[in-house]
Amino acid sequence: MPLIEVQDLARDYRVGEVTVPALRGVTLSIERGEFVAVMGPSGSGKSTFMNLLGCLDVPSGGRYLLDGEAVSGLGPDRLAGIRNRYLGFVFQNFNLLPRASAQENVELPLLYANIPAAERHRRARAKLEKVGLGERAHHRPAQLSGGQQQRVAIARALVNEPPLILADEPTGALDSHTSRELMALFQELNAGGITVVLVTHEPDIAAYAKRLLMFRDGRLIEDQQGQGARFKGQGTPGTPLPLEPCPLNL
Ligand code: ADP
Ligand code: MG
Repeated sequence: MPLIEVQDLARDYRVGEVTVPALRGVTLSIERGEFVAVMGPSGSGKSTFMNLLGCLDVPSGGRYLLDGEAVSGLGPDRLAGIRNRYLGFVFQNFNLLPRASAQENVELPLLYANIPAAERHRRARAKLEKVGLGERAHHRPAQLSGGQQQRVAIARALVNEPPLILADEPTGALDSHTSRELMALFQELNAGGITVVLVTHEPDIAAYAKRLLMFRDGRLIEDQQGQGARFKGQGTPGTPLPLEPCPLNL
């Protein structure tokens, strides 16, 4: 059974009298253990798709099965429960609480899940160590670099041990060296069994994935398998394969 299965998934936004069809019927499935990059021009529906996968939004049409369970049609409480159990979400702008330490930011999802304090501390600390930030647990976001802040966000996404990480342009605010380090971390997480779905507009970043989905005008227009797979029409044909993922510099 696929981890994710969507059939004819659609999302219309109403803006006044106008309806914007952001997603126009996407059908695909994603197995456990996949590492999927989502690409496409700005406005093609990538974030809309990710928000639906992440149960942050509700489709206007179609079906979404997460681990075999029909998600479309569930109410907000059930969706929150599913998010806790299945999903870690990583955003372009980190979305950390500015006044909270790295440790407190990572503990937050455990607080919502009513985990006792000592256990929260222990688990959050372990995830910070996993992303190479054990020494920075008491720093606030402003005291960390962009790459480090994104690592905190990844630790937070991991703290509930979800099988699935969704990342919407996680390297969009980072320089290319830091981006490569972060992609090496996603690769390592994926090698450990976590399914990763990641939006990027950079072919070099997408090349870390094992499968590429290309969106245009709210539709899935290409679906390619293979490490470093590239889309025709994306980048220059015949460009060399992307840089080797660099070792984690922790
Ligand atoms: P992408 O992430 O690929 O840039 P989005 O999924 O954000 O694209 O947007 C797809 C389309 O839906 C765009 O035309 C965008 O303007 C529109 N859209 C996205 N979010 C909203 C919203 N909250 N209200 C109205 N229109 C939206
Ligand atoms: Mg987007």
